[in-house]
Amino acid sequence: MIEPEEAWERIIARVNPLPPVCRRLDEVGGLVLAEDVRAEGDHPPFAASTVDGWAVVAEDESPQRRILEAEGRAGTAPGARVVPGTAARIMTGAPIPPGADAVVMLEDSVVEGDFVRFTRAVRPGENVRPAGSDVQAGQVVLRAGTVLGPAEVGLLATVGHWEVWVYPRPRVAVLSTGDEVVEPWKTPAPGQIRDSNRYALMVAVREAGGEAISMGIVPDRPEGMRERLRAALAEADALITSGGVSVGRYDHIGPILAELGTVHFNRVRQKPGKPLTFATVGNKPCFALPGNPVSALVSFELYVRPALRRMAGHARLRRPEVTVHLRHPVQPDPERLEFMRAVVEREEDEWWARTTGAQASSRLLSMAGANALLRIPPGPTLPEGAAVTAILLENDGHP
Ligand code: AMP
Ligand code: MG
Repeated sequence: MIEPEEAWERIIARVNPLPPVCRRLDEVGGLVLAEDVRAEGDHPPFAASTVDGWAVVAEDESPQRRILEAEGRAGTAPGARVVPGTAARIMTGAPIPPGADAVVMLEDSVVEGDFVRFTRAVRPGENVRPAGSDVQAGQVVLRAGTVLGPAEVGLLATVGHWEVWVYPRPRVAVLSTGDEVVEPWKTPAPGQIRDSNRYALMVAVREAGGEAISMGIVPDRPEGMRERLRAALAEADALITSGGVSVGRYDHIGPILAELGTVHFNRVRQKPGKPLTFATVGNKPCFALPGNPVSALVSFELYVRPALRRMAGHARLRRPEVTVHLRHPVQPDPERLEFMRAVVEREEDEWWARTTGAQASSRLLSMAGANALLRIPPGPTLPEGAAVTAILLENDGHP
């Protein structure tokens, strides 16, 4: 049996980013960039007007200016030369015509026949966005390791990188084991239960940025299990199983993984999730999670999610943690670090936590609606108000 930190270190030492792939812009949202991206040219590529108005020479004393026939519209080449005593109509985004160095807003002008008069003084450069003012040619606009969100994808499009090198989403095979486990649409016969783990874990995989592959349910017989694990590993970058990792007569997953690859640990001193096996087959990580639904999801959160993020090229692997105060007394486990499901709320500068009721490892209701896992080390009863560490499970609105 090893400590949770040791389990984490053994995993992270053996899980690496997947080989980068070249993907089109419309497929890269949420992925991690695997190359530095440089702008080849300036952006904007030409000096442009930021308003609808008049392109003029700023240093021009004429009381009124003759309106030129040429009109500057977005998407057209710069129009005729503007000289003192003249003004050219120009629209937002249109290139500044030669000779002009300022644009006067329409709102600050009065048209009188073929002439226009301005109601305020003109300043050189006003309402002109110079070439290269947003991005300069040669500038690195995005570094390798950047997560590609909306603004980053917009930048890639701006600089014309319509195909980029990114880390792919890890493809993760998810398999349930157990003679008693049946599909959720079936009415369980006596002694059977519905498969909740595979459906829960596939959502967890997708939320972690992976692609989930359902490998179904396999009974507790070594031959079938071995075949299914082989098939899963042939198709996927990583494997998650649930159930069959305790020390019962029908717990075959550990020995099969040892036969196919290398087992790096099979017990972690924690609650829930003690019977947890981590193995590698070739370079593919395999997580054999316990069968109890909460144990499976807590183990996923603590170990599998960070591993999948690493495979997807992320640098930040773990969730943020904060110090919280307990709203009620809590009884720690006498021996194991416990990860209690809780709802935490921020009140001014402090965070407060309430656990989600009975913490049985079979009770999914203790996980549903929880937004944090409290780290409760072994020790005496913790009184109301005691400070503990919470792992925040939602990123929105948190540090
Ligand atoms: P095991 O780890 O196989 O000993 O299973 C521990 C507990 O989790 C048992 O009560 C199983 O019935 C239950 N269990 C195993 N697999 C699943 C599953 N896929 N969905 C829901 N419960 C499961
Ligand atoms: Mg079982």
